[in-house]
Amino acid sequence: MSTNEASDNTKLRRQLKAYVSQAQQNEQKLVRFQEQELQFISANGLAELINTLFYDYRRNFALDAVTLLLIDPEFEIRRILENLGLHDEHPELLFCDDTSPIMHLFPKEPLARLGKCDEESMQLLFPNDKNPLTSMALFPLVRNRQLIGCLNIGSVQQERFIQGSATDFLERLAAIVAVCFENAFNHERLKLLGLLDPLTGIHNRRYFDERLDEEISRSLRQNRALSCLFLDIDHFKQFNDIYGHHIGDLVLQEVARLIKIQMRQSDVLARFGGEEFAVLLIQTDQNLATEIAERIRHQIDSHKITLGNSTNLSVTISIGCTTLDNHDGTLIAADASRQLLMRADEALYRSKQQGRNQVNFFKFGT
Ligand code: GH3
Ligand code: MG
Ligand code: MG
Repeated sequence: MSTNEASDNTKLRRQLKAYVSQAQQNEQKLVRFQEQELQFISANGLAELINTLFYDYRRNFALDAVTLLLIDPEFEIRRILENLGLHDEHPELLFCDDTSPIMHLFPKEPLARLGKCDEESMQLLFPNDKNPLTSMALFPLVRNRQLIGCLNIGSVQQERFIQGSATDFLERLAAIVAVCFENAFNHERLKLLGLLDPLTGIHNRRYFDERLDEEISRSLRQNRALSCLFLDIDHFKQFNDIYGHHIGDLVLQEVARLIKIQMRQSDVLARFGGEEFAVLLIQTDQNLATEIAERIRHQIDSHKITLGNSTNLSVTISIGCTTLDNHDGTLIAADASRQLLMRADEALYRSKQQGRNQVNFFKFGT
């Protein structure tokens, strides 16, 4: 090998080593971001989500400052936080009544922005930070094509966030933060409106009744199938009697969860009363409704609820099923609602009569 070749070879090897090292670093970075994303997604409720953002995320990525600025025109978000007792706790949460104070930050499109942190940005985005921040990364939060706020991270190091650096990991994280916050606020909003059942976290009867009227009108107008299930836990009273009321509550929570995982996002699940649930299956005919009901029944039957002392509880459920029929086209919506509920209840009664842990479909004239 000539001297030139040897030198080329060394150069190439050095380059290759640098690539491998870069790839390894990228992979480690990806894993760290994925772990952080998971933590956001699995946060249980708004308080935990806020803590994940301002405490865990900040610590995991050694950030000097993290703030979240939210557009809150009707003071709704601030009211929700106040209701949860969270409003005074987090100076990192900032609010604007409209988008005007932050529009200039994203002049053309709402895209991530990295660079120098000037005095004006410091006052607007990090007003409570004592550290003199010199660089920052801003991520516009966009939902349904609307700017709903921005996530801001700041550093005392000027070279930490430099204009032109790759932002794909960070942008993805910001998108996840936006969805998680919107979801958590929606959940709290429904709670405030009194449309959620506090024990199981699913909708309550009031919500179900409202949605039933709406869905029936839509189904009659558009001539689309609509099905309804009534579900009642079998011999539920015995769980209270044998293990106590709190275990009864746990059974209710577990059953709600198990029903939910068999449903589509568009369907409606509600706790109708004590140990009774109701489901509305949108655009679902008799065959599919019976199939979904059977899946729910089987899911509950085959699942064991484990108590702390390793006791396994077997729970079963009886289901009544009905579908809004062609004949119902002549009914007005309010009558159709009543009819549908009566039929589902009657089919449920039959499931109980015939030995429980089964699905029955309502039949006319029997
Ligand atoms: P069946 O198979 O005929 O449906 O029998 P069941 O025991 O399930 O029905 P029953 O109507 O006799 O009993 C329902 C019990 O549910 C009575 C009530 O005390 C209990 N219950 C209602 N709401 C709650 C609740 O929020 N938590 C708990 N732990 N129990 C509840
Ligand atoms: Mg009952
Ligand atoms: Mg029951």
